[in-house]
Amino acid sequence: MNRTIFFLLLTSLLVSAHTHADDRVSARYTGPIIDMHVHAYDESQPMFGMPHPPTLRGETYTAVTTPEEQWEKTLEQFQRHNIVKALTSDGQLWVHKDPGRILVSARNIPEEEIISLHSAGRLAAIGELNPFYGGIRADHPSQAPLFALAETLGVPVGFHIMPGGPPGAIYSLGMVKVRVANANPRQLEEVLVRHPRLKVYIIHGGWPYVDDLKAMLYAHPQLYVDISAINWALPAAELHSYLKSLINAGFGDRIMFGSDQMVWPQTIEVAVESVNSSDLSVEQKAAIFYDNAARFLGLSDKEIASHKRE
Ligand SMILES: [Zn+2]
Repeated sequence: MNRTIFFLLLTSLLVSAHTHADDRVSARYTGPIIDMHVHAYDESQPMFGMPHPPTLRGETYTAVTTPEEQWEKTLEQFQRHNIVKALTSDGQLWVHKDPGRILVSARNIPEEEIISLHSAGRLAAIGELNPFYGGIRADHPSQAPLFALAETLGVPVGFHIMPGGPPGAIYSLGMVKVRVANANPRQLEEVLVRHPRLKVYIIHGGWPYVDDLKAMLYAHPQLYVDISAINWALPAAELHSYLKSLINAGFGDRIMFGSDQMVWPQTIEVAVESVNSSDLSVEQKAAIFYDNAARFLGLSDKEIASHKRE
């Protein structure tokens, strides 16, 4: 075969492979992403260096070992996946490094500090609140002041429910106060009614209470969910059917992407891929990855336009 024919043949093979690849991935979303659930830690965090125990997918994850490495590897994931905003618990630790991307979600600090972050224009949310690990529900009196404060300041609250830690963490990791009895999203109902201007999102999607969650989303239009952790800790088929069920019920405009990256940066990649590999339409994926969170967080039209242009 002469060289010209060889190159023509090669080119046509490459073109056809490319076309097929495009068909296969035509429903993939490639636009900007908002991650509604990320953690920044200082050196006191005991999870540094701890591999993640096997998830229900049978996967384990290697941990970063220092706060510096946590930031660098997390940023790498943000850049690779076009994550333009990251609502970060304890984000005060990171916001100076990347003020355009990091949104501060405050927790475990005195109320006066939350108020002063707000006055400085640096408070995007309160959370993640996770009294679940202490055996306490959202409607317990101890939680009331933070919900009241969030309503007064006009910032949303991220509230963690199920799942708590890896499977069986009550026994294997000493999470002795975790109880399924405290995991139902209905525990937020009286809080929502008491604070009608409060915006709440349930962290981890309210899984696995799909029917109770639909009832809550129906009754309380201000309620949103993120799908952090359940997008890397559950088998993809379970995530997909959970999403499908909520979207079929008409709640596709209140589901937001989140990763819950702690010390395992690879979970971001798995989380993004889990949504992108579903058979949802590109529009449904865009709603989850960006549009719903942009609305929930109240991003300006100007900022949204700049994210979409990039
Ligand atoms: Zn979290």
